Amino acid sequence: MKTKDLSGQRDEMVKHQIAARGVRDRLVLDAMRTVPREAFLPETMSEFAYDDTPLPIAADQTISQPYIVAFMVEAIGLKGGETVLEIGAGSGYAAAILAQIAEQVYTVERIEELANRAAEMLRSLNYHNVEVRHGDGTLGWPEHAPFDAIIVAAGGPTVPESLKSQLKIGGRLVIPVGSTVSSQELVRITRVSESKYRSEDIADVRFVPLIGEEGWKVKQESGLVCAATKMPARIPEVEPVLSQLIAENCEPFEYIETVDLQPLLERIGDSRIVLIGESSHGTSEFYKMRELITRELIEKQGFTFVGIEGDWPDAARIDHYVRHFEYPPSEWTAFARFPTWMWRNREVRDFVDWLRHYNADLNSDQRVAFYGLDLYSLHRSIHMILEYLTDVDPETAQVARRRYGCLTPWESDPATYGHAALTGTYKSCEKEVIKMLTDLLEKRTAYTPRDGERYLDALQNAKLVTNAEKYYRMMYYGSRASWNLRDGHMFATLNSLLEHHGKQSKAVVWAHNSHVGNANATEMSYRGEINIGQLCRNQFGNACYAIGFGTHTGTVAAASEWNGPMEIKDIVPSLPQSYERLFHESGHSKFLLPLRYQKSRKLLDELAARRLQRAIGVIYRPETELASHYFETCLPDQFDELIWFDETTAVTPFQTSELVATPDTYPFGL
Ligand code: SAH
Repeated sequence: MKTKDLSGQRDEMVKHQIAARGVRDRLVLDAMRTVPREAFLPETMSEFAYDDTPLPIAADQTISQPYIVAFMVEAIGLKGGETVLEIGAGSGYAAAILAQIAEQVYTVERIEELANRAAEMLRSLNYHNVEVRHGDGTLGWPEHAPFDAIIVAAGGPTVPESLKSQLKIGGRLVIPVGSTVSSQELVRITRVSESKYRSEDIADVRFVPLIGEEGWKVKQESGLVCAATKMPARIPEVEPVLSQLIAENCEPFEYIETVDLQPLLERIGDSRIVLIGESSHGTSEFYKMRELITRELIEKQGFTFVGIEGDWPDAARIDHYVRHFEYPPSEWTAFARFPTWMWRNREVRDFVDWLRHYNADLNSDQRVAFYGLDLYSLHRSIHMILEYLTDVDPETAQVARRRYGCLTPWESDPATYGHAALTGTYKSCEKEVIKMLTDLLEKRTAYTPRDGERYLDALQNAKLVTNAEKYYRMMYYGSRASWNLRDGHMFATLNSLLEHHGKQSKAVVWAHNSHVGNANATEMSYRGEINIGQLCRNQFGNACYAIGFGTHTGTVAAASEWNGPMEIKDIVPSLPQSYERLFHESGHSKFLLPLRYQKSRKLLDELAARRLQRAIGVIYRPETELASHYFETCLPDQFDELIWFDETTAVTPFQTSELVATPDTYPFGL
């Protein structure tokens, strides 16, 4: 068992996430201050243990957001001494909270692996008053009934009769209930007499589905179990009626230059985060449309910064240019490593030039910033930290040089570091890089008065190095852990930036659909993968608006393998079992399709039947397209809106000769 004391973080969590939102019950607050949430999480997630969010555990399930646990426990009004039933033990965390207050807790979990793990963890933390059973909780636990209170941690279509009947008179049952799988109302039922129950709606919530005899049926064919089941073996074909429904309920447009974005801006409303995706990293239309939307958000809705799926130091070079910083720029070219075309292209340059121009008339503290959220720049970041420290604190620069020296042998191929560090051939550099980060944090008060922005830059580079070191170490274990770490890093960077820019700040994020669409609605969740879209959705709820892009055919800039040269490739027309094919069949060549604010219930229900979606990355392999580029998703849960271009063209990357002509200050090439 880990012994690290995180009580400080727990106190902060209780203060800011729970008490601040109105939970007052002393017993609940004390319990939340006591139970170590990190113990119930997979190790890769433990650093997020006190974040304001649900998190993935094993078997595609989640541990609830701390606040929701506190809210539900408060809602059953425990005073101490009760017998409580929980349905959906999951990690066992909520059961531990209940066990702090009640006399005896019974908890049922339908997934055996989870039930076993939860039981083991509760035992090792000495919760002797909890009993865990593997089974279908919609039927309750009749042998121990009646109960003073019942908590259901998964959403059902109705309140199971078995559970109601197992309540004592005066007992309370709290359960999420909703007619679709993905959103519910939290209902509190009080048993007033033998046959009478009182029901109240107490909150809007989103839980994983309650699956069982008196819950959702996994095999149900209605498409409503979108969030719960995998795609049926028989793949849905394109139905003409459905394409017709799309045609009737989308907002078609003819040219990017003349598209009316006002309806979209209204749907975005006062969202604080707008996530804009792309279904390839090399499609001109996606870049242009994304930039147009971003310009409108900056001009009309006061967005504060743009965060991209690019590396911090490279984007910082662009930021230096667009915000007209006074200190001299670094002498190197931004985004010069593979895949260069992703950011070094005409489309991006148009936006960067626009932003520099837009910022020119503003006070320096009002200028719109441009940041990179990604973590592939291990060595560039080290270099930037050393450059900064040499300027502000040469002595510490010496220490940093020595500490980061541990990573130097891996400069050209950081992926091999992971293997070496794990097999013990080389010791891991973890301690040194963490120490460097804490040193920088400790020097905050000494460094920031000189220049807050530059300190932020160095600090962010140090955070990046810490996470990148871990990232390369974890790559060895496989893709899931490193994917989650990478998206966790992007999300943490976004949060630091929001904090840096203050309460009123608003962010536009540019990243691939696979990062910005809610992973929970896609097959990524089957593998336990999370992404920035899901983390934002969990933290910001409806104040986060996610837009996806899609295309049927055309050309795209991509490589055939990692570090390979860029090629202009033809995009194979979309497969019959894909969402893309549905959109293609609608007959409109370009449109916006509102999903969160879709008026046609029928269309939404139809779209909720899972289909395939295409994702082209920096690599495109048409030969193995189905296996390499299609994945299963439930579109209406994935995005709030989708933008469609039936036929698309590749971005225009810079030629070296063009770089010569650009002004000296231009960040892409000196
Ligand atoms: N209380 C949990 C959160 C659980 S998420 C925690 O603190 O970690 C909901 C859990 O309900 C999932 O693990 C899911 O597998 C489980 N579940 C869904 N339907 C169920 C059913 N009919 N009976 C028991 N458990 C169920």
